[in-house]
Amino acid sequence: MKTAEIKRRFLAHFAANGHTVVPSAALPAIEDPNLLFINAGMVQFVPYFLGQRTPPYPRAASVQKCIRTPDIDEVGKTSRHGTFFQMNGNFSFGDYFKEGAIPLAWELSTKPVSEGGFGLDGDKIWATVYLDDDEAIEIWHKTVGLPLDRIVRRGKKDNYWSMGIPGPAGPCSELYYDRGPSYGPEGGPDVDEDRFLEFWNLVFMQYEIADVKSKEDFRVVRELPSKNIDTGMGLERIASILQGVDNLYEIDEVRPILDQAAELTGRRYGAKSGHAAGESHPDDVRLRVIADHVRTALMLIGDGVTPSNEGRGYVLRRIMRRAIRAMRLLGWQEPALPLLLPVARDCMAPSYPEVASDFERISQYAYAEEDAFLSTLRAGTTILDTALVEAKSAGAIALPGDKAFQLHDTYGFPIDLTLEIAAEQGLSVDQEGFRRLMADQRARAKADARARKTGHADLSGYRESLDQGGPVEFTGYHEVARESR
Ligand code: ATP
Ligand code: MG
Ligand code: MG
Ligand code: MG
Repeated sequence: MKTAEIKRRFLAHFAANGHTVVPSAALPAIEDPNLLFINAGMVQFVPYFLGQRTPPYPRAASVQKCIRTPDIDEVGKTSRHGTFFQMNGNFSFGDYFKEGAIPLAWELSTKPVSEGGFGLDGDKIWATVYLDDDEAIEIWHKTVGLPLDRIVRRGKKDNYWSMGIPGPAGPCSELYYDRGPSYGPEGGPDVDEDRFLEFWNLVFMQYEIADVKSKEDFRVVRELPSKNIDTGMGLERIASILQGVDNLYEIDEVRPILDQAAELTGRRYGAKSGHAAGESHPDDVRLRVIADHVRTALMLIGDGVTPSNEGRGYVLRRIMRRAIRAMRLLGWQEPALPLLLPVARDCMAPSYPEVASDFERISQYAYAEEDAFLSTLRAGTTILDTALVEAKSAGAIALPGDKAFQLHDTYGFPIDLTLEIAAEQGLSVDQEGFRRLMADQRARAKADARARKTGHADLSGYRESLDQGGPVEFTGYHEVARESR
């Protein structure tokens, strides 16, 4: 089933059940300084949940474009995380609650394909609920008929949902699909989240929270004026299940980009390892990163974001650079976006015709950004070559850490590239020194941010990983990033 058809069926199911279909908001369409991009379907409805505005309808359904940059490190490595994805959602503003939401989700998931549903085998579906939510267990077991051994209680980290910032929140119940023994051991979502794939989250929006330090550390401010429902079904995840592919980079809306990257770089995707073999080959991870990031860039520029050095534009820039860098690591030295972006456009245009009608503008920004980055790489390479010659003639065995840092800091030259080129010249890099300088700089940036009191909660966590400039082998940097968090 094509992704566009899944989307259509989702909206049709909820429209037939009294929901008003609401269009997706644009990705950057939020005023909250704590959130750079919309990261869930409910974001555009926050004022309704909080009781600040009266909803014009008691029930709504949407397919919302989302960006989750904190997931960037997972992209290509897990089967289920994209930086851009679409969230199917149904919402109740003080109308139905758990007793409505759970059966509605079950019905669409298991209804035969010939009758407009997704035709999932109900015996392969598991549900999770928040620790003390006996009410949800009762509905899953008594109303839906799910056996108790496929209902799992989980804690705050998984089953208490919020946007990650102050706002509406509540306990949730999630649907998982068992993809079978070739994906991992049995035992349910607690044992293996790759075999047991989370595809739908039903949030019982009941509280307002503040002082959010983590998924588990926050303060409940009050009960909301009404009991609401907010659900999110990952469109790409259900597509991967219904299309019988291993991960969301292989669905119809993404795979052609991956194939094009593989063709250009002469790689055979999946040739060296399959999911059964455990970890993916680094080349496969890179191809998935490229496919994901190119699509994300298309959608971000399409929604009016342009590359820059701060905020949203910085996120876009780093995502684009990661894709370009991954192409170079696979051996492609020429501009890549003119050959990849049109493929992404053709993948997304059936659902988003505006990416085709606006492609001239989108592609101008994208190609100019790539040209600028390639110049950066060229400039950095010249400086690096000189530094390597100097180091060698001085009899050093390693490039000084401050040189690597300067290349990174001043020229945006990724550290993994410095390592690679130095190695080609028979030199190592003083990584210790480099890491120290990076840590110093981060500490300064953090102090600055505190002084300015701009709480870019969405940005701080992933800036460090974005700064690595690509899917890298250089794990030391990960460790540093983690320590300094
Ligand atoms: P996971 O535990 O797999 O990271 P999540 O619990 O963080 O997912 P939710 O916040 O519950 O995800 O979001 C609702 C739904 O959106 C998920 O059930 C999933 O189907 C989908 N989803 C979440 N994050 C992503 C992502 N990065 N890429 C694609 N789909 C996603
Ligand atoms: Mg997640
Ligand atoms: Mg989860
Ligand atoms: Mg979830």
